Amino acid sequence: MTRSKLTEDRLRRWYRLVQPAMTDFDCGQLCAPDNDGVPACCDEEWTVPLLFREEYKYHRQRSRFWRRYPRRTPEQRAEANEFDSRHDWACLCSGPAKCERNKRALVCYLYPFMPLVNGKGKVLGMTFIHGEASKCPLIDRPGWTPPTDYVRGSIAYWEEVFEIFPDEQAVFVDLSRKARRRYRRLGRPVPLFTGEPR
Ligand code: SF4
Ligand code: SF4
Repeated sequence: MTRSKLTEDRLRRWYRLVQPAMTDFDCGQLCAPDNDGVPACCDEEWTVPLLFREEYKYHRQRSRFWRRYPRRTPEQRAEANEFDSRHDWACLCSGPAKCERNKRALVCYLYPFMPLVNGKGKVLGMTFIHGEASKCPLIDRPGWTPPTDYVRGSIAYWEEVFEIFPDEQAVFVDLSRKARRRYRRLGRPVPLFTGEPR
């Protein structure tokens, strides 16, 4: 399928799916105090949001809040090329002080979760993203479970993403294998949120 499958209507629907709140408190207060007052997932020192190309254009038609990752020097171009993918562009926002909910990218609502998929790419539920840059204190936070409506919306979102961009499934098959390996090493099951009441 081609990029044009991601229509504005579809984007709007995806934004609706990710609207349920992930926490009933301001989770930025957990991480910002240890990160110079900036929520860790909004700190461009260590995170580079990826926006679908159509999503970036959608925002740019409305404001200058988002911009493409700089590509002025050969180093920046190399870095940006590393982040960019077939469907996404590496971008930078104007920062938390100017952030409004309707200006956020899909990735802002979805972090710190990713879909856990089986070997065929079927979504089993949501689990935490891990990586060198993951400084989010919600990851593996004892006793914390994301709300069911948030999880259900995220699952529905990813199912649609895989329908539109089937090649994205392979990325998450690989990431899911890594997640299983990681938790096996830790001696516990992969946290899996399915949207079913517990
Ligand atoms: S999602 Fe995680 S990193 Fe982002 S503001 Fe909340 S606690 Fe901080
Ligand atoms: S748009 Fe808002 S939530 Fe998203 S990275 Fe920027 S400041 Fe953070």
